[in-house]
Amino acid sequence: MKYFILFGPPGAGKGTQATAMVEKYNLRHISTGALLRKEIAAGSELGLKAKALIDAGELVPDEIVEGMIESEFRTVKDVAGFLLDGFPRNTTQAEHLDAILAKTDDNVTSVVSIMIPDGTIKERIRHRAAIEGRADDASEETINNRIATYHDKTEPLVDYYKKSGKYNEVDGLGTIEEVRDKIFSLMDRF
Ligand code: AMP
Repeated sequence: MKYFILFGPPGAGKGTQATAMVEKYNLRHISTGALLRKEIAAGSELGLKAKALIDAGELVPDEIVEGMIESEFRTVKDVAGFLLDGFPRNTTQAEHLDAILAKTDDNVTSVVSIMIPDGTIKERIRHRAAIEGRADDASEETINNRIATYHDKTEPLVDYYKKSGKYNEVDGLGTIEEVRDKIFSLMDRF
């Protein structure tokens, strides 16, 4: 099994690019954000717990998303690998992922990072808000907090994965097709 991590700030285009990536490389797309939004829509206890944090632009507790990832790894078999989108989000989650994969002698195949400058993040989120109507895209305060959370908690993972030689970055500016082609030529190597 291959384990790809799709990395990047909010609004970088991870969800959009993931669709093309999973199709071309026969991967299972695991978006922790999408799984959490599904729990919220279903009105589950977990969803209720997550909603307040998501609406505030904070991360939900590590155990919640770690449990979701493990259960997907256990149940999905008929694919060439997994594409993790929005996970890991901090160093604790990255270490936990390494530990889960070590149990089956696996490890992270590669990190594909889509980078866009801070100035473009808000523009992209505003555009998405008009299309998808996500609650956490609607408030300026939530967006600012998500960007701060990204810099504070998630960005240190760039160094974490650079140290293990797993980190690869593509420029996220340009058309969807241009970015997709850059990602494909990178992924063709693995
Ligand atoms: P996303 O769809 O990846 O932008 O995620 C939306 C929100 O879900 C985030 O702002 C977090 O509140 C929460 N979330 C998603 N993935 C994680 C994660 N790996 N760890 C903690 N919180 C997460």
